[in-house]
Amino acid sequence: MKTGISYFGNRNPKWVKKDMVDIVNHHCNFVLHTFAEYDRIFFKDTMKEIVDISHKVGLEVYIDPWGVGAVFGGEALSQIISNPGICQVDSDGNILPACCINNPKFIDFMHQWVDDAKYTGGDILFWDEPHFYNVKNGWACRCRYCQEEFEKEYSQSMPEIVDEEVLKFRENSIIKFLKRVTRYGKNLGMRSAVCVLPEESSKPNIKDWEKVARMENVDIIATDPYRYHKSDFDTRIKKYANKIFRIAKQFNKEGQMWVQCFSIKKGDEWKVKKAVEIIFEEGIRNIGAWSYDGTSYMSYVRCDNPKKVWRMLKEGYQYVCNRC
Ligand SMILES: [Zn+2]
Repeated sequence: MKTGISYFGNRNPKWVKKDMVDIVNHHCNFVLHTFAEYDRIFFKDTMKEIVDISHKVGLEVYIDPWGVGAVFGGEALSQIISNPGICQVDSDGNILPACCINNPKFIDFMHQWVDDAKYTGGDILFWDEPHFYNVKNGWACRCRYCQEEFEKEYSQSMPEIVDEEVLKFRENSIIKFLKRVTRYGKNLGMRSAVCVLPEESSKPNIKDWEKVARMENVDIIATDPYRYHKSDFDTRIKKYANKIFRIAKQFNKEGQMWVQCFSIKKGDEWKVKKAVEIIFEEGIRNIGAWSYDGTSYMSYVRCDNPKKVWRMLKEGYQYVCNRC
């Protein structure tokens, strides 16, 4: 049984040490460290130290390109989007504040990110919710690289109005990008997990999850259906856990589900423990939770009662670890 938690917001090894022990005491055997652009620029060696501390207490380590290029999930801001000619372009020709995964400069940048993730000593690359920019009026991306690629594939120029072919092209672009970076990671000796957005997400992403599970260098397929405040929370979690379980099994991969430990309303804390139980009942043996200590340190998404959420997760993890 694998149980884990994400960790961010503190880069002081003195306190990391204390928190990693707390994480182990909450029955976790892995930790996900976010490795945003800011961390990479200013904390590279500190991150190495943080990964080392995590390993020393017995935790497996995931490294997450949190918010990198505004292509992945996460609140972290991106600097690379200020580079000329690297961003997505919408169907009206406007430049968007997110990098394009078909842009060779960004692909290069991501390979360098993987090099540094390897340098920190992490075990698993966590490809967190890769998606295209969600344009309000129109669609993306119609940059010169996307147009070139589209023309190569369909022997016609890329339409200005979104159609079935564009949708398929976009999905295949994400898959192609993931193939590149997971292969690059594998060559450096790192495994890869891909976390796909749940179906209801408005961000253009991957709809056919089998394409992810089928990839040679993807070891773990995950999803993160949050929105625990909704009344259908248990049926949704059950549905997604079952879907991940089936697809993972079909392609002989590991299935992983993420549990919401942020923005949990007062009185809803029990849902955290319940979610862990539902996921386990559906056959999943790799569970992660977002984020440490009920995300008490990030006011934007902090739970109403973070301590209680963190305790409920501990109880849930204890329950599933005992059952294994
Ligand atoms: Zn593009």
